[in-house]
Amino acid sequence: STGDIKILLLENVNKTAIATFKDQGYQVDFHKGALPEEELIEKIKDVHAIGIRSKTKLTANVLKHAKNLEVIGCFCIGTNQVDLEYAASRGIAVFNSPFSNSRSVAELVIAEIISLARQLGDRSIELHTGTWNKVSAKCWEVRGKTLGIIGYGHIGSQLSVLAESMGLHVIYYDIVTIMALGTAKQVPTLNELLNKADFVSLHVPETPETKNMISAPQFASMKDGAYIINASRGTVVDIASLVAAMKAKKIAGAALDVYPNEPAKNGAGSFSNELNSWTNDLVSLTNVILTPHIGGSTEEAQSSIGIEVSDALSKYINEGNTVGAVNFPEVSLKALDYDQENTVRVLYIHKNVPGVLKVVNNILSNHNIEKQYSDSRGEIAYLMADISSVNQSDIKEIYEDLNKTDAKISIRLLY
Ligand code: NAD
Repeated sequence: STGDIKILLLENVNKTAIATFKDQGYQVDFHKGALPEEELIEKIKDVHAIGIRSKTKLTANVLKHAKNLEVIGCFCIGTNQVDLEYAASRGIAVFNSPFSNSRSVAELVIAEIISLARQLGDRSIELHTGTWNKVSAKCWEVRGKTLGIIGYGHIGSQLSVLAESMGLHVIYYDIVTIMALGTAKQVPTLNELLNKADFVSLHVPETPETKNMISAPQFASMKDGAYIINASRGTVVDIASLVAAMKAKKIAGAALDVYPNEPAKNGAGSFSNELNSWTNDLVSLTNVILTPHIGGSTEEAQSSIGIEVSDALSKYINEGNTVGAVNFPEVSLKALDYDQENTVRVLYIHKNVPGVLKVVNNILSNHNIEKQYSDSRGEIAYLMADISSVNQSDIKEIYEDLNKTDAKISIRLLY
């Protein structure tokens, strides 16, 4: 029953998550901070689910102590802190929150487009230090200008809609063909985008292909006096090339939210040349807006992370649904009606080896299979089946028979 489900929540995950889990009737053990490894190992032994952010390292060494763990929720975007493959091999699904902060990033970029066009950062810094500098030269409206979006995913497409509503023309480049929103237009090459855009904004993931995607040749392809905005990943823009393009007045302004190296902690002096050799060059340039990776840092994004991840975890616990899992085959069936007697949902996680389904179907085929869905990802596979007209002893028998199969990783029966 849901009252037996134990959830360990660490690192002060948003309170919207606690509320969701309590509504489900789960037992919630909430901690503000991360736990030292020994304590984590002790606590993880008997919980069914764990919610973490980036500081808790769920290595194979930690996870091997978990006896009942079914699911891990990363209440953030990144999942590097979890050994995803090991988790999958133990039948533990992992979820994260891929788009709860997309809107926040898109809004920040909108602010930066206007700020760069009006040199807002510089005027504000000047006045903070006592200098009144009323200028209109090289200050522009954004209406009618062209925004080039590189990477038209969750964030890029949101930005597209917002930018058009301010009268910008939007073009975008992406490695896949994506339906344009509004009157935006996809262009076939990066070069075409760079040739045409007054503002270039990057929204690609960090991949081998996007490393230094924008460096000297790309800056050379941009329009004279264009602006660049990077709130994607710090490796995407080669900063030495940016500094050179700014010094040559080729680029009129830049906004950076991400860097090749980022300080681990907030505080004075943390963003210095010791971290990145070009820091002094960068900070000495005019019309360069530097922000400390705050694109997704809003109250709304935090609460929607809490809701998004806790919903995914609850759906997995209650229904076996894995849509959106980062290390698992994505399988889902309509929620089972638990009031209906004599029905059971079989969740069978197994090694992806030949012949398994034959064995499993042999076990299930004595009963009335209402629905069945299975999928695989890498070395693991997941089968979900709803079976009707079963009594308690059938359920026990199904469990025991499945438990004997060689390929079994884990089994859950929901009824
Ligand atoms: P997404 O996966 O929804 O979209 C990325 C898009 O980039 C996809 O359409 C993909 O096809 C495209 N793409 C991939 N490789 C490409 C390439 N080589 N050339 C052109 N297009 C390519 O991602 P998203 O949620 O929109 O996030 C975009 C970026 O923003 C990611 O790097 C993410 O880490 C970053 N991000 C930053 C912050 C922040 O605080 N600054 C917050 C959230 C996300």
